[in-house]
Amino acid sequence: MIAVTGATGQLGRLVIAALLKRTQAAEIVAVVRNAEKAKDLAAAGAAVRVADYNRPQDWDAALKGAEKVLLISSSEVGQRAKQHRSVIDAAKRAGVKLLAYTSILRADRSPLGIAAEHRETEAMIRAAGIPAAFLRNSWYTENYTAGIPGILERGAVYGCAGHGRISSAARADYAEAAAMVMTAENQAGTIHELAGDGSFSLAEFAAEISRQAGKNIGYINIPEADFRNALLKAGLPEPIAALLADSETGISGGGLFDDSRELSALIKRPTTPWTASVAAVLGSKS
Ligand code: NAP
Repeated sequence: MIAVTGATGQLGRLVIAALLKRTQAAEIVAVVRNAEKAKDLAAAGAAVRVADYNRPQDWDAALKGAEKVLLISSSEVGQRAKQHRSVIDAAKRAGVKLLAYTSILRADRSPLGIAAEHRETEAMIRAAGIPAAFLRNSWYTENYTAGIPGILERGAVYGCAGHGRISSAARADYAEAAAMVMTAENQAGTIHELAGDGSFSLAEFAAEISRQAGKNIGYINIPEADFRNALLKAGLPEPIAALLADSETGISGGGLFDDSRELSALIKRPTTPWTASVAAVLGSKS
């Protein structure tokens, strides 16, 4: 059996959908913190088990019988290493043959502050001696395209990424890669540096929105502290605003650029073009 944590999350749902195409539903365990949100996954035939990253005692039952586990990183920034430990310790006790973890691009040397918890989690998995695969995902294109309605209102893209290029891919691309790894043989010990085939700067992102929306949208580069303050004003909690602003500074130094095309090689098709993800939001043709 293949257990997937965070299965009701945006990536988790796409992973379950991709797994359903590659293996029998009876082989899939969707681990969720709220079973109410997982009724559709149960209806699709997956076993739904409830476990909270904050409750280590939940995880032995959640992973019972699982040969492979996909640990989708928690969304609670700042709490993640401790939370992930609940899963890692239970996976060790369960003697799983593979623990895959959704990490960040080049976690071992990434300049982004957000990589620290991923590095810590990778180190915990290594120290536990569990056969592991690291899925080091670059940014989701949706991180930016979700902001398009606000960008259209403000008439500009604001950020502090400078000329840095972002090799992003759609969540569905990373989900397919995860499903491939979870259903393939001999994945123990692998590290997959996963990023989109294409890349863009935020100026290019603004120009593409302009082109597709028929409205003049510019990119305004501001200092990291100003960008963090703008995110705070927009209602983001301080640690998230700080991490996002720090990430953009990391991007300005090339932290999320990658031209290895490992992701498209793994999923055996080109990654979703970022312009198509813009079009998906604007309802236009890319
Ligand atoms: P998401 O939609 O926020 O999903 C996060 C999942 O984690 C949800 O299923 C959530 O459960 C679950 N979760 C959170 N706290 C939990 C807890 N205490 N116990 C058990 N489950 C818990 O995020 P996503 O878009 O699917 O992304 C998956 C992960 O990738 C994120 O959690 C984050 O670590 C990372 N991420 C990566 C990028 C990128 O660009 N590469 C961007 C954003 C995030 P509920 O469904 O009950 O809420």
